[in-house]
Amino acid sequence: MIEAPLERIDLPIDRIPDRWYNVLPDLPRAPDELLDPQTGEPLSEDYLVRLLPRALVAQERSLERWISIPDEVAGQYRVWRPTPLYRAHALERELGTPAEIYFKYEGASPSGSHKLNSALAQAYYAKQEGVQRLVTDTGAGQWGTALALAGALMGVEVVVYMVRASFHHKPSRRHLMETFDATVLPSPGISTEVGRSFLAEDPDHPGSEATAVSEALEVVRSDPEARFSMGAFANHVLLHQTVIGMEAREQLELVDRDPDYLIASVGCGSNMGGLALPWVTDKLNGRDLTILAAEPAACPTLTQGEYRWDFADATGSGPLSRTYTLGHEFVPPPIHAGGLRYHGAAPLAGLLRDEGLMDAVAYQQNEVFAAGKLFTRLTGFLPAPETAHALRAVIDVARECRERKRKATILFCYSGHGLLDLGAYGKFNSGELQDVETMAESLSDASSPVEVHA
Ligand SMILES: *Cc1c(COP(=O)(O)O)cnc(C)c1O
Repeated sequence: MIEAPLERIDLPIDRIPDRWYNVLPDLPRAPDELLDPQTGEPLSEDYLVRLLPRALVAQERSLERWISIPDEVAGQYRVWRPTPLYRAHALERELGTPAEIYFKYEGASPSGSHKLNSALAQAYYAKQEGVQRLVTDTGAGQWGTALALAGALMGVEVVVYMVRASFHHKPSRRHLMETFDATVLPSPGISTEVGRSFLAEDPDHPGSEATAVSEALEVVRSDPEARFSMGAFANHVLLHQTVIGMEAREQLELVDRDPDYLIASVGCGSNMGGLALPWVTDKLNGRDLTILAAEPAACPTLTQGEYRWDFADATGSGPLSRTYTLGHEFVPPPIHAGGLRYHGAAPLAGLLRDEGLMDAVAYQQNEVFAAGKLFTRLTGFLPAPETAHALRAVIDVARECRERKRKATILFCYSGHGLLDLGAYGKFNSGELQDVETMAESLSDASSPVEVHA
């Protein structure tokens, strides 16, 4: 008998969450506030509302545990949410593991990843407050794609600074953003002062999330009708993503399971936050639960970075945050998981790691794509390279369960599909994919500490 590779566990459409979960009041300590680099003081309200829609500034610091999802946002979530939870029987059989492997399929969103969960909320609040345009940065293009779509649906213009390496090597995402009517520019590029200075230093600068943030911030500061939009990093983004974990929790209850492992790829920490934050109080109350982050060896923020104050952007003009960082001058090599090339982690993700609530592992590209390929062959679902990092960690954990004969429940976040990443799979299939040496030298160059006297 040929068995089905996957088993689908669905929530009825009316069980979609009507509020986001705010973890801030439940943490052992609050994440440090962002600081103004000039004064060393927490960012003023004026500074923040010039940067972001007011509703998001309020959510950033809110101590209310539950925040209502506006009807207009919930209505659009219903187009693809609740997302399916799947049990990956085929992978369990292939690995011969007694562990059960479940994944939350965020690739079901029309933009192809979890990022639309926050993009829709951000575009909604911008529209409500009369903001003309949202300006943002994007790495591989997943965030830009989500915000471009959200802007089109909510009626807000979107300008995207896209990491130059991806702009040229992943034109499909750019074409998709432009089809949603967004303006897409390569970063570093010639449209901003800071972009021109990066190019003057290095005409072949591959760009990074950090250069793109710097350019987007410069544009927002010079345009009173514009606000900045963040794809990860901020507390409010992780808040919006908690629909992932809340739905998954209900779905696991339907099959009478509690997770022993929560696994996600971490670039900045938004899909991990979305998956894991709804379980953090259980862990704080003593539940035996491993929260495991998977990151690239080429940009090993959580495994080799330090928890300290650093600039959120590459030029040191934006605010200071205290989190895990490789140093704001760190330029990761161009790898195919573009969404994992940021030098820092979201302050909330950094705090989880610093408090010992989150473990982390780093992987090379070839072992990651091998995991992605295995999964695709077994199930037909092609994971984004970012998602394949999580999958690599899942496979390692499931093998360990086999050795220890442990019947654990593993849940991972399938953060996005890889149908626009086939070029990278093609390179892997033909053996052309390069592993990158761990950047010990460039790490020590980039990690000159920032002194803060707060
Ligand atoms: C952006 C992205 C990530 C990494 O970002 P996080 O903020 O760490 O979640 C992971 N997977 C996919 C598919 C992405 O688009």
